[in-house]
Amino acid sequence: MKRIKDLPIYKKLLALIVLSSGVSLLVAGTVIVVYDAIIHTDQTLTDLKTQAEIVGASSTAALEFNDPRTAHQYLSTLNAKQSIIAAAIYTPDGRLFASYARDGAGRVFPTKENEGSRIEEDNVVLFHPIRQGEKTVGTVYLFAYLGRTERVLRYTGIVVLVMLCGLAIGVLVSTKLQSMISAPIRDITKVAQNMIHHEIDPVHSYRQRATKFGNDEIGVLTDAFNQMLTHMEKRDAALVEANRSLSAEVTERKRAQKLLDRKIHDLAQSNAELEQFAYVSSHDLQEPLRMVASYAQLLERRYHARLDEDGLEFLKYIVDGAKRMRQLIDDLLTFSRIGTQAQQLHAVSSEEALSTALANLTVSIQESGTRLMRDPMPEVLADRSQLTQLFQNLISNAIVYRRQDVPLQISVHAERTGSQWKFSITDNGIGIAPEHRERIFVIFQRLHGREEYPGTGIGLAICKKIVERHGGRIWVDSTVGEGSSFHFLLPAVS
Ligand code: ADP
Repeated sequence: MKRIKDLPIYKKLLALIVLSSGVSLLVAGTVIVVYDAIIHTDQTLTDLKTQAEIVGASSTAALEFNDPRTAHQYLSTLNAKQSIIAAAIYTPDGRLFASYARDGAGRVFPTKENEGSRIEEDNVVLFHPIRQGEKTVGTVYLFAYLGRTERVLRYTGIVVLVMLCGLAIGVLVSTKLQSMISAPIRDITKVAQNMIHHEIDPVHSYRQRATKFGNDEIGVLTDAFNQMLTHMEKRDAALVEANRSLSAEVTERKRAQKLLDRKIHDLAQSNAELEQFAYVSSHDLQEPLRMVASYAQLLERRYHARLDEDGLEFLKYIVDGAKRMRQLIDDLLTFSRIGTQAQQLHAVSSEEALSTALANLTVSIQESGTRLMRDPMPEVLADRSQLTQLFQNLISNAIVYRRQDVPLQISVHAERTGSQWKFSITDNGIGIAPEHRERIFVIFQRLHGREEYPGTGIGLAICKKIVERHGGRIWVDSTVGEGSSFHFLLPAVS
């Protein structure tokens, strides 16, 4: 059986009306039947008492003159009253003086009782005194049919009939009412279901509207529902539009990404080719250069006495040029090897890398009288020889670009920042102007002439390439005339 809450509304309404009208009719009918039974009993008793009074009053003379026959005649007049079944008169000493029975003789009369009445099954028994002045001269006995059961049954029948008529009217009214209440709800439900299942058309499903039947609460609900549909329609349209422009954007982005990927690929390829070119050319340049340098030295050694002053000076230029070229080629080779001959990154002690770099720089550190301060250094994920190169380049720059008038101080510091270590190499050298702080990391970019400070302009480019290969970043903070701090980030060992 369906649960009540799952029944359709019109059935619920029908059940409500039938139940409420049935219950009220039942209650009203029961009250009427009970009330009638009480009133009827009261009236019957009053009626019987009056009859007893009349018979008693008429029989006083018969009692006085001991004339039972006359008394019987009076009692027989009660024949006119249908409900009275038997009647009798008793003398004060309780003797049956006269009697009457509707169904003839043979009836047994009870012994006299005190004044009063009682109900016996569906009959009334009444004993009523006959008075003459203050004196009681006898008692009237009446036995009458009350007919309460019959009456209750009759009235119950009427009540049942009225209830059936009432229920029939209720069903008719509720059928009419339910169509007024449930029809608009059914309409709203249908529109909502159409929308959910897109029965109309996925694009236009929000265009339908529920029909408004009146201005009651359901009418207000219909309005609210229709307004909601309007909102949804607008939002849907906006969503469709946004979707359209989004998919256009996605297509455009995909196209741009493709382009970018191709460019990155091209760039990587040309980078690799360039590195290869730099490596091969610098490698191949070494041999003729070595030859130039060796023969220039040979010339100087063997023909020193035969050359005049100019000749010796020119020879010196050749030797110097060959030395510089050698340095340039060495630096270029280092630069081009960072990507190609790199080792896998693994846990490396930066303490050891720093010590090796400092050992490589012992002579220049001693010559420059550098005071060096260093923190304990951590383990990092790195290529050991590249890390050594990094420290070496930065510290040797600090030595090269020192101020002549103050003793050089270099400090090496490391601190943890999240998953990385931040290294800082700080000096009290000549410093770098703000506008050059990006430029110095570009290959061959120098801020000074060779006569002022020696160098090839590759050192910091090598540093940048090493740090970036480790997934880090390098930058500089500096104040001209006070010093510089080179910082770089390297991945910590997790
Ligand atoms: P090089 O030292 O061979 O010229 P680098 O790439 O190492 O090439 O340095 C580029 C430029 O950055 C240098 O010419 C110099 O002007 C500047 N520079 C580098 N390190 C320092 C430093 N510690 N203090 C001041 N200037 C520096």
